[in-house]
Amino acid sequence: MSVDRTPDPTPGATADAGRGATAAPMPVRDAPPVVAIAGASKTWSGGTRALAPVDLAIRAGEFVTLLGPSGCGKSTLLNLVAGLAAPTTGTLSWWGGAFDATGSPGRRLAFVFQAPTLMPWARVDANVRLPLDLAGVPRARADAEVGAALARVRLGDFARHFPRELSGGMQMRVSIARALVTEPNLLLMDEPFGALDEITRNKLDADLIQLWWKKKLTVVFVTHSIYEAIFLSTRIVVMAARPGRVLKNVVIDEPHPRTEGFRVTQKFAAYAKELTELLAEASAKGATDL
Ligand code: ADP
Repeated sequence: MSVDRTPDPTPGATADAGRGATAAPMPVRDAPPVVAIAGASKTWSGGTRALAPVDLAIRAGEFVTLLGPSGCGKSTLLNLVAGLAAPTTGTLSWWGGAFDATGSPGRRLAFVFQAPTLMPWARVDANVRLPLDLAGVPRARADAEVGAALARVRLGDFARHFPRELSGGMQMRVSIARALVTEPNLLLMDEPFGALDEITRNKLDADLIQLWWKKKLTVVFVTHSIYEAIFLSTRIVVMAARPGRVLKNVVIDEPHPRTEGFRVTQKFAAYAKELTELLAEASAKGATDL
């Protein structure tokens, strides 16, 4: 299996962009990208120019990570992709159409936020069932889907617990189960593990990459951790600040499913060196534009 090799249209993309990404769910040839971003910029109402025009195509089966220093517009770009904010200039399309067409089978989108955002008064299963309740899914079917989603994040035994009885990492897994229960095709994640200790984060990264692989998801993930980005991604979009823009696309050419062993390879270290240098460049560029 492989990701579509169509070169990325991002102006800052290297000749490598879109190439070398490894075994990922097979895209339909010539299908439109899952998300196509064309000249999309964002100036927030207070006047902050968060994003200069960005061109980016996200294809089926990719695990794309937006990596860059704080304030470079990663969350802004993710919010545009989520349809939570509109671009000031330019356009976005989802599966070749408008945002209104998302939500139908094969075009479902889910968002995982930085904090688990669980209802503290509701048990784990009720938290995960929320999107199905809101969609009017009959209770018996919803319960079966909640059970399956909790099993996928290894929380089957905690369905009747309250969020306060779970660790931070387990709460994030509940939040991921709540996203998975809607059977998304495109999963958007804004630094979901940023508040967790490194060991927990590594474990959740390993779980996530297995899920991505098994469920044939397309993921757009935000982080400022170089190591997390390398471990997870088929492609890293390195961003620079003031205004936020794409500096470079780096394809992580390592087969899936990946194991913890990847973290201690020379290849991993070489990617870490390349990305550390790119991020230094991204930060320096941001600083001179102040
Ligand atoms: P990052 O995710 O890379 O840290 P953000 O996209 O959160 O960057 O922020 C980019 C810039 O846009 C920052 O200067 C931030 O203060 C500003 N910003 C982000 N969201 C909003 C918003 N909803 N309203 C106004 N300004 C915002």
